[in-house]
Amino acid sequence: MPVKGLGDYDTTNIFARILRQEIPSRRVFENEHAIAFHDIAPQAPVHILVIPRGPYISLADFTAKATDAEIAGFFRAVATVARDLHLEAPGYRILSNMGEHAGQEVPHLHVHLFGGRVMGPMLASSEESR
Ligand code: 5GP
Repeated sequence: MPVKGLGDYDTTNIFARILRQEIPSRRVFENEHAIAFHDIAPQAPVHILVIPRGPYISLADFTAKATDAEIAGFFRAVATVARDLHLEAPGYRILSNMGEHAGQEVPHLHVHLFGGRVMGPMLASSEESR
């Protein structure tokens, strides 16, 4: 079910459990404010999820409550992962789903980082999408 609205942070969500290492993930990066790990169902040759360590549901939640250091640390993590995985030169895509219309499934802010092939159109096209 897509995430609806903001509400309270659900401490049992799957990414909270990954952060606490209650369930395994294939981490590729961590700093004081963020971790990055392989998506369990990759949609590109490289598909990494970057998440803040703090309990934030959405970008609105994050930018309202996080410190400047957390915000900088998170976005630096995204760029560092792309660079470390040698995606700067060929290019890559980042994407973040927010709420119901975007189909956000996990109620912990995350950025998808896709690479390793030409990404194609930015959005799936359909008559209904216009
Ligand atoms: P969303 O749809 O919320 O933007 O993306 C959630 C992402 O989390 C999906 O791409 C999904 O494959 C990934 N995901 C869901 N459960 C797990 C898990 O247990 N481990 C990992 N590594 N990724 C997960």
